[in-house]
Amino acid sequence: MDSPTLTKSLLAACAALSAILAAAPALAQAPKVDPALHDQALELLKKGVSFHTVIPGDQVKPYAEYLKGVLVAHGYKPDEVRIEAAAGSSILIARYPGTDPSKKPIVVIDHMDVVEAKPADWTRDPFTPVVENGYVFGRGAIDDKFDVSMVVTVLGKLRQSGWKPGRDVILALSGDEETAQQTARKFAAELQGAELVLNGDAGGGLVGEDGKPVYYGLQAAEKTYADFQITVTNPGGHSSRPGKVNAINEMGQDLARIAAYRFPVMHSDITLAGFKAAAAQTPGAVGEALRHYIANPNDQAALDVLSADPDFVGQLRTTCVATMIEGGHATNALPQKVTANVNCRIFPGTPSEQVRQALIRAMDDPTATITRAADGAIDAGASPLRPDVLAAVTKAVQARYPGLAVVPEMSAGATDSMFFRALGVPAYGVSGAFMKASDDFAHGLNERVPVDTIDGALFQWESILRDLAK
Ligand SMILES: [Zn+2]
Repeated sequence: MDSPTLTKSLLAACAALSAILAAAPALAQAPKVDPALHDQALELLKKGVSFHTVIPGDQVKPYAEYLKGVLVAHGYKPDEVRIEAAAGSSILIARYPGTDPSKKPIVVIDHMDVVEAKPADWTRDPFTPVVENGYVFGRGAIDDKFDVSMVVTVLGKLRQSGWKPGRDVILALSGDEETAQQTARKFAAELQGAELVLNGDAGGGLVGEDGKPVYYGLQAAEKTYADFQITVTNPGGHSSRPGKVNAINEMGQDLARIAAYRFPVMHSDITLAGFKAAAAQTPGAVGEALRHYIANPNDQAALDVLSADPDFVGQLRTTCVATMIEGGHATNALPQKVTANVNCRIFPGTPSEQVRQALIRAMDDPTATITRAADGAIDAGASPLRPDVLAAVTKAVQARYPGLAVVPEMSAGATDSMFFRALGVPAYGVSGAFMKASDDFAHGLNERVPVDTIDGALFQWESILRDLAK
């Protein structure tokens, strides 16, 4: 099924930030990681790719059982790792007990399922892991079995070493993130007493095409995904007898009014931080507009320039765009019914119903109906930029790449984090992967992840967990 998920495409989404390239520090050596731990993480990733965890399907449970086996082999008690059927898939919840039960737990989330892949279209079989030219190839190699494998490896290592977190660390793996997203909804309800959530399925480092790190994106917000279905119906009739109304013409006019409508400009500390990072290094008219916008977020001339740029418009306001249309039933008949899908990416904090009402006013067509489609998404606000999270992530990232900028991000939506944010639990996308935009084939053909980002990712997860799970 068509998924609302745009996980990890955020690496490529904000091309403006790649302008920070000029300020990038020299490539640093990744922190030293025990070669045995590297091999174990790579083995977990390869094994993970080999499970065909496409929904619908029945491989999520065996994959969860495999991961449970790894955790138990490293010291988890069998009853601390629960696998449960949920929403046509499975979830895994593993509890690493902390020393102070009065402290709220930290929850680490990732997803075990993957997007479908047609073997005939791939260069290599998508469900046979292949290590070649410095990459692990396979469906899920980055989205999201990379971070699943890194986190499970690190949690196993910490447990085996005898480290005791101050608070519980709960690993919660969902099983339908790429489709209906109901499994995370289920465990978010159960885990809503958490202090915060770390999501491996968002955030991450961008590497320039020259191999140098550009910046690390810490995802602290995402836009709310919403599909709206517009329907126009007419009595129809013979095409030789056109009357005043025509459903196709009417829909055309309705969609043109939506296209012309501009939602109000909004900003948050997260989007302003991203704009500031981009402004410092963007040349020309766009750079000038960025600087004017930061100085005055109501500067209309600057807003006009940035709103016309697909790299920036999504960070400025709610956007809605027609994505599908269907109508008419015969070449020689007046259309009786036309439907269109309008896809919106809603600025956090704006209820989706408010957007539906704005579309009704923009269309100004009392004969058209507009309803929210069953897209599985949920209204959720941004997470506050917690200083402890920012400090822990910055420390870990800068140990990998000294001086590298950590830039808070708002992505286009919609990851499993939305279920926690909607319940008031702050959630942060902190993937351990650093990748080039040209290597990002999440959801696409020949998905891959560079092997050389494994050590840094292991280091980063361990460092962040040790700092935040005190
Ligand atoms: Zn994902």
